[in-house]
Amino acid sequence: MIHLLPTMPERIREMHAVLRLPEAPDIRPSHHCSKPYDCEFWQRCTSDKPKDWVFYIPRILSASFDRLERSDVVSMRDVPAYFRLTRTQQRVVDAAKSGKVYRSRELTDLLQPLAPPASYLDFETFSPAIPVYVNTRPYQRIPFQWSLHHDDGSGSLIHADFLAKGETDPRRGFSETLLSVCEQFPGAMMVWSHFEEKVIRDMFELFPDLAERFTALLDRVVDLLRIVRSHVAHPDFNGSYSMKSVAPAVAPEVTYGDLDIADGGGASAAFYRIAADPTLSPEARDGLRRSLLKYCQRDTLALARVHQWLSQGVTKISAPFGAEISSNSERDQVKVGSDIMPFDLSTLPVLGTGRSGSNYRRPNRSR
Ligand code: SF4
Repeated sequence: MIHLLPTMPERIREMHAVLRLPEAPDIRPSHHCSKPYDCEFWQRCTSDKPKDWVFYIPRILSASFDRLERSDVVSMRDVPAYFRLTRTQQRVVDAAKSGKVYRSRELTDLLQPLAPPASYLDFETFSPAIPVYVNTRPYQRIPFQWSLHHDDGSGSLIHADFLAKGETDPRRGFSETLLSVCEQFPGAMMVWSHFEEKVIRDMFELFPDLAERFTALLDRVVDLLRIVRSHVAHPDFNGSYSMKSVAPAVAPEVTYGDLDIADGGGASAAFYRIAADPTLSPEARDGLRRSLLKYCQRDTLALARVHQWLSQGVTKISAPFGAEISSNSERDQVKVGSDIMPFDLSTLPVLGTGRSGSNYRRPNRSR
């Protein structure tokens, strides 16, 4: 940082000059818009771009993006055949051009061991700059919520979740409830990204007395995003493999528009207020808690539906999901079943009966 100090007066002069302009400068949105932080004007600046804008080609380099834009190539459908792309990028561009879904030949074999019984897991964490709990450091990742959907292959989804109250360090409660619930359900534990695995490893380090149980859980965790990114391209993903792009493309009934909390950042901010805002009224706190529960539950339901869609052609679709099992057996802060279910699950298709009593274990796991 210190080396930047001599340049600051000039930079500040430039910023003031921009602020004095009668109109916003004509700057092309590009990779600089998210470095070092996401610019809040992104939606505004990209509102005229097509859904398959070449910027959304996964992991496209700045130089490649610049070359395409200099050639007036804005849509993926117009990317010339000779333009060099990675294999994954090429699949995404091909899907945009053809309008067809790509599934690799290996996908069937990869999904076979993941047939129900299987579970879908999502965590929320926050990383306060000023620590809220004793024995935590600035920006330390603190998990405070999990949601799990379980598909036993019989046509019903079971839902369980945990949301800390925020008054005390939530990590022990998070860990114990997570382990207890996961140990009740056989099969793979599917997640979307390696984030959940990182959090489990944090808890593994923090609580040596739970290490053996966390090791058993890690053995069952499967990152479905990794499989999808390498083996599937869908024209309606528009180059993005975020759950918010993938789920609505393959399961249109799964939407996020009705949620007060739209992403992980919003969930972190909401929990920070619950944990650290003394001015928060009990009503506002309850509202934030309801929004958090709804958001996290939607993510695991979305994951269940994406897995179901992927498995079409792998496992016979035979019956709709029944209603969620809703025992409402509140135990501490864990709730099994749910009263927050905006979808009519009876309209959803379901995987075939699958295996019963499977105890999935991911092969070749390195620790
Ligand atoms: S999104 Fe922000 S950084 Fe990017 S061009 Fe627009 S105003 Fe500039």
